[in-house]
Amino acid sequence: MSSHDCLFCKIISGDISATVVDQNDDILVIKDIHPKAPIHYLIIPKIHIKNIQDLQEENSRYIAKMMLMAKKLSQKLSGDQSFRLIMNNGAQAGQSVFHMHCHFLSGKVMNDF
Ligand code: 5GP
Ligand code: ZN
Repeated sequence: MSSHDCLFCKIISGDISATVVDQNDDILVIKDIHPKAPIHYLIIPKIHIKNIQDLQEENSRYIAKMMLMAKKLSQKLSGDQSFRLIMNNGAQAGQSVFHMHCHFLSGKVMNDF
């Protein structure tokens, strides 16, 4: 899938609307449309990388930027600042949007998995 028919690229460009939580030059954070926890954000790099299998040395800095955004998001939580990050890589792992992203989940006691 190219960036032209990618849902998250369309959200990044503004062609499709989403509830934006935070952003900077490299990262967009939106609310997941089907939340699995009281707080369920998607941390999305503003570059079309399919998943970790497609990550290259030259764009690997986006991983660090995603983690630093997670830190910032956690600092803005009220109460317990615990959070879980999930990245699905590949269809069998549950990836449905093939633009790399990280699920930021918080606001409840998480079960083991
Ligand atoms: P994945 O399954 O690829 O790990 O995660 C994709 C996530 O995108 C899912 O949790 C799904 O609910 C969310 N999602 C799918 N379509 C939309 C949309 O149009 N807007 C928003 N905000 N989230 C979406
Ligand atoms: Zn994309």
